[in-house]
Amino acid sequence: MPDSHLMHRRLVILGSTGSIGTQTLEAVAHLNALAERGQSRQRFEVVGLLARSNGGMLADQAARFGVPVLALGDEDGTIQTRARVLRGAGAAEELVRATRPDLVVTAMVGAAGIPATLAAAEMGIDIALANKEALVAAGQLVVPAARRSGARLLPVDSEHSGLWQCLQGLCPRGELLVPPTPAPAVVRRAIITASGGPFRTTPVERMRAATVEEALAHPTWSMGPKNTIDSATMVNKGLELIEARWLFDLSADRLGVLIHPQSIVHAIAELADGSSIAQLSAPDMRCPIQLALTWPMRAEGCARAIDWRALASLEFAEPDPARFPAIGLAFEAIRRGGGAGAVFNAANEVAVGAFLGRCIPFGRIVEIVGEACATVACARAGTLTEIMAIDGAAREFAAGRVGG
Ligand code: NAD
Ligand code: MG
Repeated sequence: MPDSHLMHRRLVILGSTGSIGTQTLEAVAHLNALAERGQSRQRFEVVGLLARSNGGMLADQAARFGVPVLALGDEDGTIQTRARVLRGAGAAEELVRATRPDLVVTAMVGAAGIPATLAAAEMGIDIALANKEALVAAGQLVVPAARRSGARLLPVDSEHSGLWQCLQGLCPRGELLVPPTPAPAVVRRAIITASGGPFRTTPVERMRAATVEEALAHPTWSMGPKNTIDSATMVNKGLELIEARWLFDLSADRLGVLIHPQSIVHAIAELADGSSIAQLSAPDMRCPIQLALTWPMRAEGCARAIDWRALASLEFAEPDPARFPAIGLAFEAIRRGGGAGAVFNAANEVAVGAFLGRCIPFGRIVEIVGEACATVACARAGTLTEIMAIDGAAREFAAGRVGG
């Protein structure tokens, strides 16, 4: 196929050395190979990559994909490369502003992703959104900015990608639905699923004393350490409820969670007429990552298809609030609004760090999140400065509880 028929998209990946980042580069290589063979009309040029500190891996990625601009979040990180290198806490935002890509994949961890996500939304740059924490903490800024600029928030999180797929065909005039967009009124309830993590059936007292190794052993998904701990506590599902609230403008009473240990059904849209539409795929992040890149088209994928005959059963259950109190805290944060999401997220980041550093037991993580949500003032959260102040106050509060 001559090059003139190819759609060319310039891409930046924030967090390229992590779990989502490396799988995104894998998807890019795969899609470009398809384009090369005339089997896809989309070609991706990686124009910028960011990592926190792994300069060696970042330089290798840059050499492999011919990337001209790199960024290291860590001021002192060493890197040997011919590419231009940006550094420091502001490097992610600077990278987005310097390269002005068509699409930015936000695959860094935590609230550190807020400034770059907001900058992209303001600049009208499409965002393949993995960094849910940025939306949880600053959705009230990111979503209006994206609406004003026309930037699209293409979900990478598997449940939100699933929900996005379930909602197609439901718009009154049949148009494609691209977040941030309210879910059509015909959607009575949007349900996201959770595997239940490693402690789905562990006695609650035993779970409270779980070791770092036990909490990092996720039964179905392979992810970075923070997301894996968040899955074990179900804070991840709480963050995802808040994420869904922003992507699809869903109130708390139109959102639900079901435990589904097989991780095959990722989301369900319950409709007013009694139908439900579900999205199913193997638990493989390359599926939603690729869809965020190729949307509204689809291409041959790397992930294996579901083997229906090998599926013995698909089970669903309500999460037990005594085992997973994080879900209730997230619903409360959605109802309260303001900076409640920022508090929920920041306190969790500190508590997870403390657990991974073996300073607090597993059971304290969600307790500290709950204490922060009940204590830290968060009503004024209309500007980035106010949100960052709430984030800071929640971190300080949580750090005090970790020590105490
Ligand atoms: P990870 O820990 O494997 O990778 C994180 C990446 O971000 C690394 O490249 C790291 O160097 C970089 N990074 C982290 N903090 C940084 C900072 N302050 N400045 C600059 N770079 C920084 O994490 P992951 O599992 O790939 O998760 C990334 C994001 O995607 C998270 O928000 C997570 O919740 C979300 N997510 C992950 C999965 C998954 O399967 N891994 C699924 C859904 C959503
Ligand atoms: Mg998810």
